[in-house]
Order: sequence, then C-alpha cells, then structure tokens
Amino acid sequence: MKKVFIYFFAFVFLCFILPALFTKRYVPVSVNQITVEEVKVDDNNEVKVDDNNIEGSKPIEASRKIKLLHKETQEVEEVDLEEYLCHVVSAEMPADYEEEALKAQAIVARTYTIYKSNNRKHENADICDDSACCQAWISKENRLARWEESKRQTNWEKIEKCVQATRGKIVTYQNQPINAFFHSNSGGTTEIPVNVWGGTNFPYLQVVETAGEEGYAQYSSEVNLTQSELLNKLKEKYSDIQINFTNADDIKILEYTDSGRVKTIKFGNHQLSGVESRTIFGLRSTNFEVKSENGIINFKVKGYGHGVGMSQTGANTMAKEGKNCEEIIHHFYANVEINSI
Ligand SMILES: [Zn+2]
Repeated sequence: MKKVFIYFFAFVFLCFILPALFTKRYVPVSVNQITVEEVKVDDNNEVKVDDNNIEGSKPIEASRKIKLLHKETQEVEEVDLEEYLCHVVSAEMPADYEEEALKAQAIVARTYTIYKSNNRKHENADICDDSACCQAWISKENRLARWEESKRQTNWEKIEKCVQATRGKIVTYQNQPINAFFHSNSGGTTEIPVNVWGGTNFPYLQVVETAGEEGYAQYSSEVNLTQSELLNKLKEKYSDIQINFTNADDIKILEYTDSGRVKTIKFGNHQLSGVESRTIFGLRSTNFEVKSENGIINFKVKGYGHGVGMSQTGANTMAKEGKNCEEIIHHFYANVEINSI
C-alpha cells in the first residue's frame, strides 16, 4: 500500500510539479509599468515605446514644435523645441561657461519660450529670433563659424548635453510658466520689471544680490561725450533742451530705484528716466554715475542689461561655487518651482 502512495506522488511530481517549476509564469504588463523615460509622445500624440534606447550618444529626441519667426527674412519656421533651445543657449551664453550655468540658461530659455508661446507677440509665430524683441537665436552654421575650429565640435556637444540634461524642464509659479527674464550682468543687484518697462511687477521677480559680478568684463564700462555730443543726442528727443554746463546741478541724478539704479536724472530743463538715458546715450545699464568735467560728460556704468531675472555671469559664478542649475534658478526667481512641461 505504501509503495502505491510513493508511486502516485512520484507520478504527480513528474507530471505536474516539475514542469511547473521550469515554466515562466505569464504576467500581463500594464501600460503604467513602462517607465516615463521609455515612453515618448510623437506629433500625433500617440504614445510609443522607445525602441532606440541603446548606449552611446543619442540624437535629441523629437519634442513639441514651435513656430520661430526669422526677423530678417520674415520667414516662419516650425522647429523642434529642444533643438531650437541649443541654438538659443549657444547664442545667449558663452559655451565656456560652467555646465550648471548653461543648464540654468536652458531651463530659463525654455520657460521664456513657453511663456512667449502662451502670450504671443507675433501673429503667426510663437517667438522671434531677435534678442531685442524676444530671444536670441543663431544658426548652427553661423555659431560654429564664430568659434575657434578646435572648439567647434566640443562646444556644440556641450550645449546639446546641457539642453538634453534639462529636457522639458521649465520654471513655474503657481503652476504657470514664469516670464523668465534674464540679462548679462546685474552689477551686483538685480532689478524689478516695473522700473524697466513700467506696468506691473511679477511676485517672482525681486531685487536679489549676487556676488562675484565684478569678476567679469561686462561689469564695468564707460561712455564719454563732449558737451555738444550730449546735447545733440538729447536734441533728437527734446528739441528745446538747454543745459548750463557751468552749473553743477544741471546734470544731476535725482532719484534711484531700490536696486541702486538711476530712476530719474536731470539734464538742464528736462528730467529723464534712467531707462531713457540708457537708450539715448547707449549705456550698458541704468546703474551709472555721471560726472561733468573739463567739457566731458563721463558715465561710469555697472553691469550689462536690464537687470531683471537671472544674471548670466551671476549664474556662472554660482556654478563655479558648486551650485547646481536648480539652486541658481531659485536664487534669481523667488518662490518658484521647476516642473516638466
Ligand atoms: Zn519677437
């Protein structure tokens, strides 16, 4: 009887248990189990699994498209956002800046692009390639031509790497992309937008101090004008301008902004804003001192640009100190978050 049981169990073991041990169980895979990196959305919003996930340098994956207006030719080109950003970052920031500064620039430029796309200035385009209007852009051909030949490949690859490392990341305030202004050198302190363009302020754009700005060529500059040069420049806008150069009070700064920039300045019978003076005399910023001596009017200028938002040289200094791109962004923009599009 015992033998019968042993034969029975051996039979059960051989026929059922053993095959089960060597057979893989079938587990249905749900779509949610695919990781985010493996999934991308193509132009038709179809989700597909990335089958190109091989090691080595990957080309920039397709992302959302934007309409770019080339100001000179008035041609509107549809471009891939991430690809477009390589052209912007390489036009806006020197390639020899630290990687974390370039990454911060990529995030800020992406944010600015999305903001502009949501608040269109141009009828048929999201953004244009003019830095005075929207955001600088340079063709790869022109960009490479301006770099030393030995650095062309490595510079472009560095820019691509920094853009890709921040792929899809933008700066938000209350879940909305911010108006991410940036400039070259703050002169030590940034400015609020109302002092530059009037209108309203943005809660995330505050006056922020940045160390290390003086270490860059953009920090200090001078403009010297003879009395008649100064008068001629002013006459273009104020035909009745009269200045008594023997009176020390005839050229005088009357008011400063909280960041220490010139708010109002007197030229004889007229009062001008600092911003207006910057344009008229071609000053690098509104952070200046003025002195009239021996027939020469001397403007000593600190910083370069409007001074609102992120300072690029400030970002580079922070990166050199070991700060990462997110820390840099949080320094220049108050109470913001960094999210993916
Ligand atoms: Zn524009």
